Amino acid sequence: MKVLVAVKRVLDYNVKARVKSDGSGVDLANQKLSMNPFDEIACEEAVRLKEAGAVTEVIAVSCGSAGCQETLRSAMAIGADRAVLVQTDAPLEPLAVAKLIRHVAQREGVQLAIFGKQAIDDDAGQAGQMFAALMGWAQATFASKVSIADGTASVTREIDGGLEKLRMKLPVVVTTDLRLNEPRFITLPNIMKAKKKPLEVIDAAALGIDIEPRTSTLRVEEPAARKAGIKVADVADLVKRLKEEAKVI
Ligand code: AMP
Repeated sequence: MKVLVAVKRVLDYNVKARVKSDGSGVDLANQKLSMNPFDEIACEEAVRLKEAGAVTEVIAVSCGSAGCQETLRSAMAIGADRAVLVQTDAPLEPLAVAKLIRHVAQREGVQLAIFGKQAIDDDAGQAGQMFAALMGWAQATFASKVSIADGTASVTREIDGGLEKLRMKLPVVVTTDLRLNEPRFITLPNIMKAKKKPLEVIDAAALGIDIEPRTSTLRVEEPAARKAGIKVADVADLVKRLKEEAKVI
């Protein structure tokens, strides 16, 4: 059984996002871009399922510019067997990503797809769910435990009231939560091995899929800078300032 892992290239989580001077978006020029952390968890989970004998092949898929090849190599260094880049320089909303990944999933005949619960750049948290809807598959979002046996997926989800356990017949979409696993450290030998694994590039424009954005960004702004704090003399001074200056009591 094949598993597809959706991998997005995003601004590295250690890098402070800066807004472009014209306010049209986040400036990605000359910034470190890496695999979305939830997608690293997705890769790790797929590879663990393969190591446990539950799946036979792990295919990493990314949609975006040529630079995503680097991210797909990282997915293969974690242990994905091969990778597919659906290449486009056009801005992609989650619906467009879901449609492009549907094309690959149908072509490959995968029975399981693992997405991150959200991409940390635009925080949409939608692509996995939209993919499930387009495919007509069952979905288990925000998974903290996954097991596959006898054509059935068992998934534990962390919800407000505790843990919810779902059992679904394959094919299934899973989206990963932070506590699902801790991705392995990528070793140099595995980076070298990943260079030799197959990476296929498909031109998104040749697929005839409508990936036009449904929304437009009006303006992006940096959050207001925090004002410096002050030291108060004593509790009476604090209460006075809360009443008279902050007017919160
Ligand atoms: P989002 O709905 O944008 O928050 O993304 C949720 C998940 O969908 C991500 O964690 C990825 O697994 C997947 N995804 C989003 N955008 C892409 C992309 N351009 N290429 C591949 N996978 C993506």
